[in-house]
Order: sequence, then structure tokens, then C-alpha cells
Amino acid sequence: MTEQTLALHHGYTQDGVGAMAVPLYQTTAYDFKSAQTAANRFALKELGPIYTRLNNPTTEIFENRMAVVEKGEAALAVSSGQSAIFYAVANLAQCGENIIVAKKIYGGATTLLTHTLKRFGIEAKLFDSDSADDLEELIDENTKAIFFESLSNPHITIADVEKIAKIANKHDVITICDNTVATPALFNPFEKGIDVIVHSASKYITGQGLAIGGVIVERKGLNDKLIANTRYPHFNEPDESYHGLVYADLPLPMFTLRARLSLLRDMGAAPAPFNSWLFIQGLETLALRMKQHSQSALEVAKFLESHKKVKKVFYPGLESNPYHQKSKEYFKDGQSSGLLSFEVEDFEYAQKILDNTKIFTVVVNIGDSKSIITHPASTTHMQVPPEDLLKSGVTPGLIRLSVGLESSEDLIEDLIWALD
Ligand SMILES: *Cc1c(COP(=O)(O)O)cnc(C)c1O
Repeated sequence: MTEQTLALHHGYTQDGVGAMAVPLYQTTAYDFKSAQTAANRFALKELGPIYTRLNNPTTEIFENRMAVVEKGEAALAVSSGQSAIFYAVANLAQCGENIIVAKKIYGGATTLLTHTLKRFGIEAKLFDSDSADDLEELIDENTKAIFFESLSNPHITIADVEKIAKIANKHDVITICDNTVATPALFNPFEKGIDVIVHSASKYITGQGLAIGGVIVERKGLNDKLIANTRYPHFNEPDESYHGLVYADLPLPMFTLRARLSLLRDMGAAPAPFNSWLFIQGLETLALRMKQHSQSALEVAKFLESHKKVKKVFYPGLESNPYHQKSKEYFKDGQSSGLLSFEVEDFEYAQKILDNTKIFTVVVNIGDSKSIITHPASTTHMQVPPEDLLKSGVTPGLIRLSVGLESSEDLIEDLIWALD
């Protein structure tokens, strides 16, 4: 069965009532029925719900669907994309060790991985994910993870995923790919040799700007890379916090298992069951929506490219874009997702455009069904010194669009009016 079909059916068999929609188990805890069952569940002799901080039947269906849609083995849902990134990294690295992080990633991921984790003794070294030419020389014996985005937000660049996987595998380092912007509808990082995928479910997965959430997916066969790998002793030695459990001894996908039993148990960024339920609804239409986001974004990009007041347009679907070939090679049916940016003369004109659009709304989010417009120089990148700003490609006249699901005709008309 294809992922598009599994996204609607996997992991749910109707209950006695015959409910077509996945039921929402809005509950904190579960009746074990007997002392023995309770003991078995805690000892992992029997898998089943314990407490909603650890697992929940609605969330589990979302996790299992994410795992199949990404062609992975298992998934763990958490309460935000940020916590997905944190748990994925904290599952591998600890104080005194280092991680290698792409330069072009989401701002929140940059501050988490390079500043906040530093206070916990984990050092981040930066690499260029476009070429990965500098990656290998950064790896040392304390390197525990390589983190990057497949299609980067907000830079709209595409990583050399195969090269990153090849270098990492040579050194037995785990790779983590944030696939939020490309989504599983366009791109599958596991097919290119990546080990772990993270998502902000807050974007295209919910798809309508309804809830914050995140998910971690591990690839099939990842246990083989972790077992007896001297970089990751904590998967192979007794876990004191879980009465001496050795993850490598279990016949279970151990990356997400450890993230659940140790990190989610102790730090508790569990998803609300209702949010998991919303993400299940979102997944049902993800492939359809991504087609429309991609098609409309291309139409808007072509219109902007032809406009005399627009200096430059960045969208991988355009032939003029440096990532066009990569986009065609990696992404399904030439789709390039819904993010694009363009440059106009100056700061003031950019702000005027934002104030004049009626459909494009001034919001800092992406992946909503409603179209969004942002001016990075006056908002998300305001604190960045001007010289660094230019280095990261953010000019004073740069405008970013997240193209939604309104008719592209209306969106183009809105821009004609605003650019006037
Ligand atoms: C939004 C975003 C995140 C953070 O996710 P939240 O759900 O907002 O915590 C991480 N990575 C990317 C690429 C994002 O766009």
C-alpha cells in the first residue's frame, strides 16, 4: 500500500461502535485491571498504555502513521518541533560531547543547539549542508550527531542529503534530518540513508495552523547501527534510571524507545491527545495539500519573477534557482513546497507591501492553509547585526511568503495590488 493510503488507515481498527474517525482518548491514565498487568507494563513485558505523559492510544495512532508515512520503523510524538529536536539530540549527546549542526536551519533550532545546549556542556560545530565539504573534518571521537534540514526554513535551500549520510556512516555517527518544510509527501530522508527524522507538526502536518507539536521517527534497522557502537554506550549499557535495563537487549526500535522511557518520562514534553487527534486529521490530506501548495507557490513565484519592481525571486521550483536541479532530483513530481522569498528595492517598500496585502497575513508561521507574509529584516532577524544579516542572505528588502491554499489567482491579484 502507498503512504498516501496508509496516512488515512494505518493502525486503526474500528472499535465496537464502528467509529470511522479515530477516537480521541482524552485521558490522563488507564485502568490496568490487575496488579500483574500493571507490573508487566512497567517491566515492558507487555506493551500498553501507562500514563499519558508516556503514551496514549490516540497519540500512538499518530506516531504509527508518521512512522509509515516516513517509511520508518517507529515514532515518538512530543509537544513541539523544538522538543523533538531537543530529545533527538539529547538521546545521543551529553555533557563534554559535541554535535555538528547545519548553518542554514530554523532560528529556534539554532538557538537551542548552539546556545542552550552549550549551557548543558554540549558543543555545536557548524557546517555547510549545501555542499557538506567541511563536514568530515569536523567529526571527532566525541561527535554524537549531525543535524540539518532537508529544505531549510527560512533560507529555502536544499541539503546534499546523500553526501551527509555517506560521511556520517563512514564514522558511525547518527544523522538527524528536520523534514518539516519538505514533508514526507515530497521527500523521504530515509531513502537517502538518514537515521532519524524530526518534524514540527505545527506546520504542514496540522496544515491549518491549529496546534503545536513535534515528532521523531527512526529508520528501519537503526538498532544495527546503535548496537555495539562505541560512540553510544548508553544504548548498550544498563540504564540505572530504569532498573538496569539494557536497550540493546530488547527486540524493539530503541532510539524512540529510549527517548520515550528516559527523556519523555523525565522531561515531560508530552503531546496533548487532542493535538495528536488534530495531526491525524492533517495527515489524511497532507499529500493533496502539498501538491496545491507547491503548484500555487510556483505560479506566485513565476508572477513575481516577471514583475518589474521585484529584483529577485528564490524558489526551488524556478529554473533560475540554484537548487532547481536538486529539487527535481529529490522531490516528488517536481513539487517544491510552499515557501518562497523575493527581494524588492528597500526596507520601506517591503514594509509597505506587507501593509497592503489583504489575503497574505503578517504572521510568523509557515505551512498554514492561509497565506502568510513576513519581512525578516524587521522581525525574525531584527537582532542580527547588519553584516551577519547580509551573510545569511537577509537583505533589507527581502520578503518571505508561505503560500496557502487560497486560489492562486486571488493570491497573485493580492500581490499585484500590494506591489503597486
Ligand atoms: C517551526 C519549526 C521548528 C520548531 O517547531 P515548533 O513546533 O514551533 O516548536 C523546527 N524546525 C523547523 C524547520 C520549523 O519550521
